[in-house]
Amino acid sequence: MPPRHLVALLFLLLAMVGCASLPEPASRHAVLLVSIDGLPADVPGSGRMPALDAIAREGTRAEWVNPSYPTLTFPNHYTLVTGLRPDHHGIVHNNMRDPALGRFVSKDASAHDGRWWGGEPIWATLQRQGGIAATMFWPGSEADIAGERPRHWQRFNGAVPVQARVQQVLAWLDLPPARRPRLVTLYLEQYDVAAHAAGMDSDRAMRALATLDAGLAQLRDGLRARGLGDNVDLIVLSDHGMADVRGEDVRYIDDLVPADAILPEYGGQLMGFAPRPGREREVEAAVLGRHDHFQCWRKGELPAGWHYGRNPRIPAIVCQADHGWRVWMRHWPAQAALKGEHGFAPEDPGMRAAFVAAGPSFRAGTQLPAFDNVDVYPLLAHLLGIAPAPNDGDLAPLRPALRDARR
Ligand code: AMP
Ligand code: ZN
Ligand code: ZN
Repeated sequence: MPPRHLVALLFLLLAMVGCASLPEPASRHAVLLVSIDGLPADVPGSGRMPALDAIAREGTRAEWVNPSYPTLTFPNHYTLVTGLRPDHHGIVHNNMRDPALGRFVSKDASAHDGRWWGGEPIWATLQRQGGIAATMFWPGSEADIAGERPRHWQRFNGAVPVQARVQQVLAWLDLPPARRPRLVTLYLEQYDVAAHAAGMDSDRAMRALATLDAGLAQLRDGLRARGLGDNVDLIVLSDHGMADVRGEDVRYIDDLVPADAILPEYGGQLMGFAPRPGREREVEAAVLGRHDHFQCWRKGELPAGWHYGRNPRIPAIVCQADHGWRVWMRHWPAQAALKGEHGFAPEDPGMRAAFVAAGPSFRAGTQLPAFDNVDVYPLLAHLLGIAPAPNDGDLAPLRPALRDARR
């Protein structure tokens, strides 16, 4: 071979090696998971949130999502990102006690201790498989869970306005590929806060919906402005619904059994307590079964569909209030006059959660029948193209909303 040709061949080989080592054009696909705390299932499509309705029209809307038991914020948010029932992931209540760890209060530093949080949240699943996740708040995101934390995260601060949270989400999507997240969560509590304080259909709650909808519009505009409109799968959902309550609709457990016979863990829409040692028979005889506006069970005997009762953090006896009611102790301070509450049975229509999604992975204009919120984690893993950790969910109910073609 003449030397000229050898040199040409060498160049060709070098060029081929060079090409092979060039980075792949980085995919701009990302999954955005937005939670509007307490948003009832019937808000999407109602006209009260036009930007949310537009997402539903472009993609898919579920008739509703069945929340897990109990219908409280921390148990359900962590179910959404693990696919595990609260009984299995261990966040069995916003406030709870563990035989070894002591007391957990969702709003204090105990929630930042990873030992409370079982299972594997989606951000850990993604990062273990080489991806990057970011959380603009989410219960569990402030804890180091089994050695993983979202690459980008912030400590919860309810004073950060919706607009600033959306800006942070968009800023993360602007990062260079080596730091850009493929999964971003955004948590918004404004409706929940307003509905608790003033009632679910109050002016204050309606103003919160308007603020939240403006945030969704800002998010969509921001995605479009970055040319990401067709690259981002956007899911907007809630953890549970909401119900109006009246302060006077309360039942006292110590009307059934002497207050000193029980060791209460928490009260409210559900109450959990243990009989004081030696008083088990007396307490069980007095409280187990149906009462006026509530019902009590041994922890292992709750309705099977609630998948709840084996975790050591669940107290021996659990009472569940009927829609609108509350179970309390006479000597406890009167609760602040709340007008809205959740925590009622998961099959209570008022507790149904919302689900809307649009983006490259979703078919336009599909309506899904109700599914369980444990199914969201397998959906997220599917959208991210990663292997899910073992979980209680199933992708099957969501498949009709998905495009067949994989990216
Ligand atoms: P709930 O008591 O079930 O209505 O919980 C809703 C409240 O939980 C919101 O109003 C927030 O103040 C609070 N919250 C949500 N996420 C977090 C978090 N990551 N850390 C602390 N508090 C939170
Ligand atoms: Zn909530
Ligand atoms: Zn709430």
